[in-house]
Amino acid sequence: MQFFLHRDGRLHVESVPLDAIAARFGTPCYVYSRAALEASFRAFTAALAGREHLVCYALKANSNLAVLGVLARLGAGFDIVSGGELARVIAAGGDPRKVVFSGVGKSAAEIRQAFEADILCFNVESAAELERIERLAAEHGRLAPVSFRVNPDVDPKTHPYISTGLKENKFGVAFEEALPLYRRAAASRSLRVVGVDFHIGSQLTETAPFVAALERILELVDALAREGIALHHLDLGGGLGIRYRDEAPPPVAEYLGALLGRVGTRSLKILLEPGRALVGNAGALLTRVEYLKPGAEHNFAIVDAAMNDLLRPALYDAWHDIVPVAARSGPTRCYDVVGPVCETGDFLGHARDLAVEEGDLLAIMSAGAYGMSMSSNYNTRARAAEVMVDGASVHLVRERESVQSLFALERTVP
Ligand SMILES: *Cc1c(COP(=O)(O)O)cnc(C)c1O
Repeated sequence: MQFFLHRDGRLHVESVPLDAIAARFGTPCYVYSRAALEASFRAFTAALAGREHLVCYALKANSNLAVLGVLARLGAGFDIVSGGELARVIAAGGDPRKVVFSGVGKSAAEIRQAFEADILCFNVESAAELERIERLAAEHGRLAPVSFRVNPDVDPKTHPYISTGLKENKFGVAFEEALPLYRRAAASRSLRVVGVDFHIGSQLTETAPFVAALERILELVDALAREGIALHHLDLGGGLGIRYRDEAPPPVAEYLGALLGRVGTRSLKILLEPGRALVGNAGALLTRVEYLKPGAEHNFAIVDAAMNDLLRPALYDAWHDIVPVAARSGPTRCYDVVGPVCETGDFLGHARDLAVEEGDLLAIMSAGAYGMSMSSNYNTRARAAEVMVDGASVHLVRERESVQSLFALERTVP
C-alpha cells in the first residue's frame, strides 16, 4: 500500500497535499503517515499470529512521542538503548513492562531506572554488565530479568557501519562465552534468566543471514534446555531492510515465515526489535529549493534541508528518492541536491534528474527512520518541525526549534 502518492499533480501523504503542510508549518519538515506506520506494524503482528509474541519497536529509529504513542496503542513493546529512551516510552504512554533494554554501555543510573520502571528484560551485552546488573539488583532487592545478546558471528552483507553481528563488532557476547554466562546467571539469586537475543545488523535485504544467525542461537537454546535452563523468550532482533531505491527486501511474512519455521515447536515467546522496517517508509523530509546554481561540472539544487536534518547520505552514502511535490512539465536537468551546511559531504542526493525551479518543494522519501533521530544542530541550525498526518488530519508532533533554544544552556564567561 502506498501512503505517499501523486494526485492531481501534487504529492499527497494520505489525503493531505504536502504543499499545504509546507505552507502551514514551513520547511524543512518531517512528515509521517500514521496509516503507513500502522500498516507496517500490523504486517509484523499478522505474521506472528498464532504464536505468543511481542513486537518491540527499536525507537532509536524514530523516537518522536507521537510515533511511540501510535505504536503503543497497537500493543507494541519497545527496544531501548538508553534511560532517555525509557523516559520517552513512558511519556508516550508505552508500557515499560514491554520494554527490552539493549546497548553495550548501560550506566548504573540507567539500570536503576529500569528496575524502577519494571522493564521486561535487560539484553545483556557483556560479562561486566551482567556483574553490574547482579550487584545492583542485590542492592535493591530485585530479581533482574536478563537475556544475553549473543553474537552469532554471521556476515549480514550490509554496510559495515551498520553490521553488528560479527566477531569484531563491539556488540553482544561471543557465542562461545554464552553458555558459561547463562550458567552463572541461572545460579544467581538476583538474576532471572528469561531469554536470548541477537541483532546482526541493519538494512538487511536477504533472509539467509537471519536464518544462519537463528540456527546458531537455536543450538544454544537447545544446549541450555539440556542443562535445565529453560528460556521464556527468543528475541530475533531487528534489521529487516526497506526499499530506498531498488532494494528488494523480503516481505515481512516471508522473512518471519522462514525464521518461525526454524523455531518449530519449541515453546518460546517470540520477540522482535524492528526499527527501520516499521517507520522508514512512513516518513518523508519536505524541503524547499533555495537556489539553483548551474556549474561547469555539476548543477546544484541548494535546498533548505541539510545533513544536520538527514545524515544518512553524508554518513553512509545512502540513497533517498527525491521527488518534486508538484510535477513540472519542463525538461529535466541533472542536479546534486545539497544543503546549506559548510561541508562538501552535505548532500541529500547526487546526480538527480529533476525539473525544478527556485522555490519548489521537494520530498526526500523514505526518511522516517534514522532521520530526525540522528539530526543535529550543526551550523546552529534549528531542527525541523515534525508533522503526523492521519487521514485528512494534520498534527504538529514536534515544533520547529527556536534558535534561542539552541544556546539557552550556554553561558559566556566574564
Ligand atoms: C538498532 C537496533 C535495532 C533496530 O534495527 P533496525 O535495523 O532499525 O531494525 C534492533 N535491535 C538493536 C539491539 C539495535 O541496536
